[in-house]
Amino acid sequence: MTTIRLYNTKARAKETFEPLDPGNVRMYVCGPTVYDRAHLGNARPVVVFDVLYRLLRHVYGAGHVTYVRNFTDVDDKINARAAETGRTIAEITAETTQWFLDDMAALGALEPDAMPRATQYVPQMIAMIERLIAKGHAYEAGGHVLFAVESYAGYGRLSGRTVEDMIAGARVEVAPYKRNPMDFVLWKPSGPDLPGWESPWGRGRPGWHIECSAMSHELLGESFDIHGGGGDLIFPHHENEIAQSRCAHPEGEFARYWMHNEMLQVEGRKMSKSLGNFFTVRDLLDQGVQGEVIRFVMLSTHYRKPMDWTAEKAREAKETLRKWSGAAAEKHANDIDSEVVEALADDLNTWEAIETLNELYKCDNRARLTASAMLLGFDLAKIAQSDWAKPFHYETEDGAFLAEGTDYQPTVGVIGWGGISDQLRDASVSLVHKWLAYRRDKDWSNADRLKHEAASLGVELRASRSPSGVNSGTAVLDRSNLNPAKLEALK
Ligand code: AMP
Ligand code: ZN
Repeated sequence: MTTIRLYNTKARAKETFEPLDPGNVRMYVCGPTVYDRAHLGNARPVVVFDVLYRLLRHVYGAGHVTYVRNFTDVDDKINARAAETGRTIAEITAETTQWFLDDMAALGALEPDAMPRATQYVPQMIAMIERLIAKGHAYEAGGHVLFAVESYAGYGRLSGRTVEDMIAGARVEVAPYKRNPMDFVLWKPSGPDLPGWESPWGRGRPGWHIECSAMSHELLGESFDIHGGGGDLIFPHHENEIAQSRCAHPEGEFARYWMHNEMLQVEGRKMSKSLGNFFTVRDLLDQGVQGEVIRFVMLSTHYRKPMDWTAEKAREAKETLRKWSGAAAEKHANDIDSEVVEALADDLNTWEAIETLNELYKCDNRARLTASAMLLGFDLAKIAQSDWAKPFHYETEDGAFLAEGTDYQPTVGVIGWGGISDQLRDASVSLVHKWLAYRRDKDWSNADRLKHEAASLGVELRASRSPSGVNSGTAVLDRSNLNPAKLEALK
């Protein structure tokens, strides 16, 4: 059996992965808070842990892995969104949950085996909080229930910090009822206009961290294998989950391997609303960036490195996927390349796996390429059927065109994907003629300008010299739905 090695945040080292029960490998990943569209950063853990899920299913068998990812559907950000918009919380969370599922499906992510919603597990959260109080790890104060961090000696072990460091570094909410400023909320009171549940401490709602402890316990047990999420969750969220779960169920180990993806950036800078480079997965899909392309860009960087989203990477990813899908084989079952598996088994080295797929492509090993790409979540046969990957090629007959008013006889080609209308083909051909005429006349400034303007409309102009010495040019169309009238208007 393949040996999987994973970097365990808790150990700060790569470790050999040994599941508690190879017949049921269990993984929990922290999911989204549902009040808005998922941004591109939110998609990173989804794609990364989807690859891990696929690898585990490959190694242990599809029926022997349980993957749980939650929806946080009770949160003050959701309450605020409801207040701003005048819509109900239920409407907002139901709509956002469906958006998330649709957007992640577009990225080729398999659905986890269970997707619990926090609001469905409030009784389990209350029961866990009661246990924590009974064992002296939590206390009620000022209508709140707080976890007493000093009651758990292991607090800070995951992030490698002392409680003093954490107090100094974190923006902890100082409240008069807290015994220690690091103590965190398990339960808080709700006024009549906020969502609330009856509890031994009055009507209220859970703090954020308790939901993951309660849901993972209910669905995966007191000890399970892998817990994942973005690196921003290590502290305080995962540190708090550990404290709650280990104290409520000291007989269990809680999660044994902790995995965290690094953050996403855009063109070298942090993605943020104020920098104007903030976008959602849906924004990209709507702009015509394919889900597979987004997935490819995500996987071309190792998950423990900061990842940069750039338009150039998306362009390259699209080109590679087009190439690969052109070599897609019909039959491919059971032909997964062992080097691809080995690469993924080495702490999800997706970059190495992609390199290996490129080698398979170069050797024209079609069946193996198709089967192995599937392990990374790329369905090449399906991609080959989509408009953006189906190539067409059109070429004027050599000498058939005479550029107007000259004896100039270029060969002109148009290549693209997904079919082309006659109007778009003719507009592209005439555009190449105009460009070649500038080049023939050594009018480089106009030639460059036209090339630039064409590029902004989705047409790349390429020149080459045919064997007969005649200039030839090709228009490479980015998409099949370009506007011919705009191309015709270029001078
Ligand atoms: P949230 O809805 O903010 O709790 O985030 C949902 C998931 O997305 C968590 O696992 C976060 O760690 C992860 N995440 C949020 N922002 C980023 C980012 N910029 N890059 C990578 N992962 C992120
Ligand atoms: Zn969580």
